[in-house]
Amino acid sequence: MTDLLSFFGAADTVTGSRYLLETGGRRVLIDCGLFQGYKKLRQRNWLPFPVAPSSIDAVLLTHAHLDHSGYLPRLARMGFSGPVYCTAGTRDLCHILLLDSAYLNEKDADRSTRLGYTSHHPARPLYDRDDAKAALKLLRPVEFETPLQLDGLRARFRRAGHILGAASISVETPDRTIVFSGDIGRHNDLTMPDPEPFEHADVLLIESTYGDRLHDHSDAEAQLANIISGTTARGGTVLIPAFAVGRAQTLLFIIQRLKVEGRIGNIPVFLDSPMAIDASEIYKSHPRDHKMDVGGFKETFAGATYVTSVEASKALTVNRYPKVIVSASGMATGGRILHHLSAYLRDYDNTILLPGFQAGGTRGAQLAAGAQQIKIHGQYVPVGAEVVQMHQLSAHADREGLLQWLDGFREPPRTIFVTHGEDTASDALRLAIKERTGTNAVVPEHSQCVDLDRV
Ligand SMILES: [Zn+2]
Repeated sequence: MTDLLSFFGAADTVTGSRYLLETGGRRVLIDCGLFQGYKKLRQRNWLPFPVAPSSIDAVLLTHAHLDHSGYLPRLARMGFSGPVYCTAGTRDLCHILLLDSAYLNEKDADRSTRLGYTSHHPARPLYDRDDAKAALKLLRPVEFETPLQLDGLRARFRRAGHILGAASISVETPDRTIVFSGDIGRHNDLTMPDPEPFEHADVLLIESTYGDRLHDHSDAEAQLANIISGTTARGGTVLIPAFAVGRAQTLLFIIQRLKVEGRIGNIPVFLDSPMAIDASEIYKSHPRDHKMDVGGFKETFAGATYVTSVEASKALTVNRYPKVIVSASGMATGGRILHHLSAYLRDYDNTILLPGFQAGGTRGAQLAAGAQQIKIHGQYVPVGAEVVQMHQLSAHADREGLLQWLDGFREPPRTIFVTHGEDTASDALRLAIKERTGTNAVVPEHSQCVDLDRV
């Protein structure tokens, strides 16, 4: 039987994970992500899906991040109505992420209509909240490690670390086992379990976000303590654009630990992101899926004030007392972080802490690259604040971590596709895999279709 694998996303970039497996007359899509970052990539979200969405039998989601799940409402809008299998943690996080994404798309469309940036009147969103709700109804939770029978195929979800509910997925066809790594988390992480490899794969798709980098293993807690103490001692505010799901919770957890251990003062900490607040509550409802359930959560996020209303958020920009603000979005592409950046970016006393990877084309990447000014809401804001990027808090394994995960397979997979990375990262991991295992790894091209009998 022929197994065809098509790389409809995350093949020349870190976003838009979509892999279509066609086998025995069935079509299964593994991940259904949005393209994000550069406009040229985001425009791909508007192209027709290469096969009729109604012809796809099922979707398997590795995890809830939008670059893996955020295209689902669009697929549903275009006719997909099959089941979407994912872990319970992923299902719960998708509820907040997909509805929020739909809301942002509606807002974008409204703005385009208002400003006349559109050939359609009114402008149409990529999808709306009704599409997101329709997609959410398709989610079917599966347990980690419990085999899922899919009409001749067998799938298994295994812990990948990374974020709550994140999985690597193995799919067994009659002829071969194909493993999709999803996003691999870090070994010995403070907050998440270790990623677990599968024993066997004939074909492996491995992510390469940090394929060309080794993380700074210096003590993240010590660095965070220094930044917070130093900034607040000079009367400044530490502003942290953080992914609402995962990163925000890790930061709150570490900051609270630093306070309890007396390593920083009792500085006010604000979690200013409704989505991050909702995500924190979901983390609390899945205590077995992470390592933050300290003292039955009495201490985990207790030190932070939740900021829910827009008025309270705006009031925070007026409050000039030393403090820490954790807000979204993580790459400063939108959300409440923008009005905080407008208020805090110019002042030398403040610190902007970028706690992870910043994709090209985002304000976060510009800040990380040392930009002198940043455009926010049409205005250029000069950068006076100290900008610090910390890679220690990344939810992604670095090159060594990816290789360590790969070492866990009983024997190296015969065929390895390196995906989900910028060109240099994917190529560096490809070379490292060749050196470590002797296997010829391949970086596939966008939209490439591979007959797995011929590799
Ligand atoms: Zn992810």
